[in-house]
Amino acid sequence: MGEKEVSKQFLEAFEFQGIKRREFLKFCGATAALLGLSELYIPKIAAAIEKAAKRPPVVWLNFASDSGCTEALIKATYPNAADLVLDILSIDYNETIMAAAGKQSEEIREKSRKAGGYILIVEGGVPTKKGHGMIAGKEMLDILKEMAAPAVAIIAVGSCATFGGVPAAKPNPSQIIGVTEALKKAGVKKAVVNLDLCPVNVEYLVGVVVNYLLLGKLPELDSFGRPKMFYGQTIHDNCERRAHFDAGRFVERFGSNEEALGYCLYKMGCKGPMTYSACPKVQYNDRVSWCIKAGAPCIGCAEHDWPDKFAGFYNRLPDVKLPGIQATADKIGAVAGVATAVGIAAHAIASSGRAKKAGGEK
Ligand code: SF4
Ligand code: SF4
Repeated sequence: MGEKEVSKQFLEAFEFQGIKRREFLKFCGATAALLGLSELYIPKIAAAIEKAAKRPPVVWLNFASDSGCTEALIKATYPNAADLVLDILSIDYNETIMAAAGKQSEEIREKSRKAGGYILIVEGGVPTKKGHGMIAGKEMLDILKEMAAPAVAIIAVGSCATFGGVPAAKPNPSQIIGVTEALKKAGVKKAVVNLDLCPVNVEYLVGVVVNYLLLGKLPELDSFGRPKMFYGQTIHDNCERRAHFDAGRFVERFGSNEEALGYCLYKMGCKGPMTYSACPKVQYNDRVSWCIKAGAPCIGCAEHDWPDKFAGFYNRLPDVKLPGIQATADKIGAVAGVATAVGIAAHAIASSGRAKKAGGEK
């Protein structure tokens, strides 16, 4: 198939499900942007997805979590990501959403394991204390071990699967660990793509899957196994409130005028300066909003060892410095605050003078 041609049959199949050609190509364009590729890649992405109409199998394991990542997947609406992922991939096993249960679901998992060649997606941390995490009488760690071996790629979705997340927070009575560590413990040597976030951003998952379909390999990873294309910069680097941080304009209290003005949330505990993720660019909910845009400080859920690492979600990160200035944001904030106050006072006096000159006493 030529690069400029998208299979008619494939698109018809999508149109049958209410996804129009324009929407499909829009999705390909959005995915190209997500992967940092030029528009020239849109036909290639379309072709790669079309090729995937053969439905590469996916096994999705659910371990210790609240199933928030599965929920994020099935609730995704832009650009019908769930439909695309669910339809271009054959999700052969996902306990949370599959109709089968009990013995029948175990048979499906076993059938997939024997056939091999699937993409293994893992949601949830792995309990390592005996008897603390079992499915059909089997330890979750053993299930992971046997399902990881025949997989062509392993993707850990959400903070629980990547590094343990909330279920692994202190005191962690079930001794929960992330997939990478669990596989190491089980003696399985395989690369894991870590999509660390709570819950996973479905667009990151779609991006990794399309990257795999397009190039036949996993994206370049950082030292924590996270794709550099999504975890190469801090939240702070791309935050829409960054100008306020640089100018020392901070929210000091929820419900204040500063909050209404959308000032920087650093003093309200924002962990954006130490958190690596593309949240400001990719956003959530149809790219409509994300934590900071919605008015909440970033709590750093994309970082390993979260939530313990950033416990005290509203506590300020210590000693965050402004670029090139040897002072903490607190000090700069105080100085800038005084400067702003002086500026406002001067402006008020000048305005008052102008108003009087114009004869407009108010
Ligand atoms: S501290 Fe948080 S709210 Fe302020 S600019 Fe950085 S990321 Fe944005
Ligand atoms: S902005 Fe921060 S808290 Fe929100 S999803 Fe991204 S990393 Fe997590």
